[in-house]
Formats: sequence, structure tokens, C-alpha cells
Amino acid sequence: MTDRLVEANRRYAEAFTDPGMDASPVLHVAVVACMDARLDLHQALGLQLGDCHTIRNAGGVVTDDVIRSLTISQRKLGTRSIVLIHHTGCGLEALTEDFRTELEMEIGQRPSWAVESFRDVDQDVRQSMQRVRTSPFLLHTDDVRGFVFDVRTGLLREVDPA
Ligand SMILES: [Zn+2]
Repeated sequence: MTDRLVEANRRYAEAFTDPGMDASPVLHVAVVACMDARLDLHQALGLQLGDCHTIRNAGGVVTDDVIRSLTISQRKLGTRSIVLIHHTGCGLEALTEDFRTELEMEIGQRPSWAVESFRDVDQDVRQSMQRVRTSPFLLHTDDVRGFVFDVRTGLLREVDPA
């Protein structure tokens, strides 16, 4: 499978020209989103190469590592706005924290990380916004907005932070 990707990259590089930009995102925005394969962030948000930072993991959860990336994004690369995107039909809705126990039973070691499973996607987005807003490491927490992406319609729905 990976060979197919490497082959596609050769064709990509043939048509590629150096955009001549530095590492700071042009739109000064960082997007935190779920890794879900149905969510094409650049297409869905009309983003071009160099426009934004994209930080993705299972669920689009604001973990310590996401805060690490956002802190570098804001303090070293000049972003000011944060967009959080969760989505309908997320795999984390089907999991519980029991997954950690299952892993422990299977391999004899319980992971140090939380599964961060959830039942209510809106509440999960609100919690993520809260984690970002209360982080002491971030310079800019005034422009933090959260959305749910509908994988069937392609439309974003904004979540009220209150
Ligand atoms: Zn997901």
C-alpha cells in the first residue's frame, strides 16, 4: 500500500513548484480535527497550501500533545485563531474507557492515556474549547470556535460554547 503512496508522490513532485513561503501559516489559523478519513480539511474549508496548521488525532481531542502543538503554533509561528472540528459518526462514540482495561488484559499494561471517548459530540466540542481557553501556555484564546462536521452533507455546524 505504501508503495502506491510513494508513487503518487513522484507524480506530485513532478508538478510541484517551490511556493517560496516560510513556515508561518498565511491565515494565522490552527485547525484541530479528528483524523477521520471522511474529513478532507483543506477541501471542506477552502484552504490552500500554506494557509493553516492542521493538528489531528482520534476524535480531535485537545490532549496535552495538542496543547504542545498549539503553543508552538501560536508562540513560534504566529497563529492567532483556533478552529476545533469534531464530526458525526465518530469512532470514539462507540468506545468507552473500558478500552484501556481491554488493552491491559491483552498485553499486561494499561496505557497512561485516556481513551477520551464521548457520547454527546456537542458536549465534547464544548469541553475541547474549554481546554483550549483555559490553557496557560497559549497567547491567544479569544478566537476559539468549535464545529461538528456532518460526514453525510459535508456541512459544518457551529457549537455554542455556553
Ligand atoms: Zn472521529
